[in-house]
Amino acid sequence: MNNKRRTKQKTAILEYLRSVKTHPTAEAVYSALKNKISNLSLGTVYRNLSDFKKEGLLKEIKVNDKKRFDGEVSFHGHFVCEKCGKIEDLFFKKPPKIDFPNNYSINSADLIFKGRCKNCKINMPCKKKCSNCRKAGKKKNKK
Ligand SMILES: [Zn+2]
Ligand SMILES: [Zn+2]
Repeated sequence: MNNKRRTKQKTAILEYLRSVKTHPTAEAVYSALKNKISNLSLGTVYRNLSDFKKEGLLKEIKVNDKKRFDGEVSFHGHFVCEKCGKIEDLFFKKPPKIDFPNNYSINSADLIFKGRCKNCKINMPCKKKCSNCRKAGKKKNKK
């Protein structure tokens, strides 16, 4: 493969990561781009993602034992929906102040909050039989 093509693939992968908020896996990056970039292989995607990580151009987070990639490199945490698996960025209004023991050096931090997203919360049956739950129940009965 010539250098020009290699650069083109690299740029496309980074641009894709910066354009989405889904925090895709390497496989998801590959399937999103394979039809757009000729001769793209999953191996190339893996290699480029690991290069970008070393260069600090992306962040890697581990969610449910899967590596996900993030084009947003500023300090931020993540919300993971336990039901649908959606990952969202969470930004801090102020950087949190944490008392680290003396002489420690911190290289990275993964802050992951788990719960239910707005959509999944609505579909969660509650004990009070609220209007949302009745609606969800009706949908099920139709099938
Ligand atoms: Zn959800
Ligand atoms: Zn993120």
